[in-house]
Amino acid sequence: MDWKVDLNGIKKRKILEGKFELECLELDTGCMPFLEDINVKIVIARSKNGFAAGGYVKTAIEHPCTRCLTPVRVEINSVVEALYVEKKHGDIEGEIRLENLRNVIYYTSSVVDLSDRIIEAMIVEVPQKVLCKPDCKGLCPYCGINLNEHPDHVCNKIPEFSTGNKFAELAQLKRKLEEG
Ligand SMILES: [Zn+2]
Ligand SMILES: [Zn+2]
Repeated sequence: MDWKVDLNGIKKRKILEGKFELECLELDTGCMPFLEDINVKIVIARSKNGFAAGGYVKTAIEHPCTRCLTPVRVEINSVVEALYVEKKHGDIEGEIRLENLRNVIYYTSSVVDLSDRIIEAMIVEVPQKVLCKPDCKGLCPYCGINLNEHPDHVCNKIPEFSTGNKFAELAQLKRKLEEG
């Protein structure tokens, strides 16, 4: 379905509801695949200053655990909020007044694309650290074995030079910090 809307064609309000099409969700950590349809509902209503858009985005993505890389299902239940204000020359006072409001978008063409708002809403819902479980033990820093599956793992790949010295202590300290 088309998420472009001609604001001038809206008398009072317009409701857009349907599935948003996107291959994967582009994050710093990579492009994450979707596990569910992306269901979106947005209501656009004329307001005093312009057009207020509000609604929700609901879906789920697959994202690797930040510590052990196991694929994790991340639910996305996000809200879309934006105020579309026509960009007029010379209306500096009005611009400053609106600058204090969140999510103000100035438009020059009355046809606006809601796709950016929908993608934005999904991205902010993904946690900074995705964990398979709160106490995920991560991977062994030396051999990469999953420490959740092998809690008693004693690594035989620890480099000779690091056993019992500062290097190993640092590695241990780092793990403690990450756990804490
Ligand atoms: Zn994990
Ligand atoms: Zn190991």
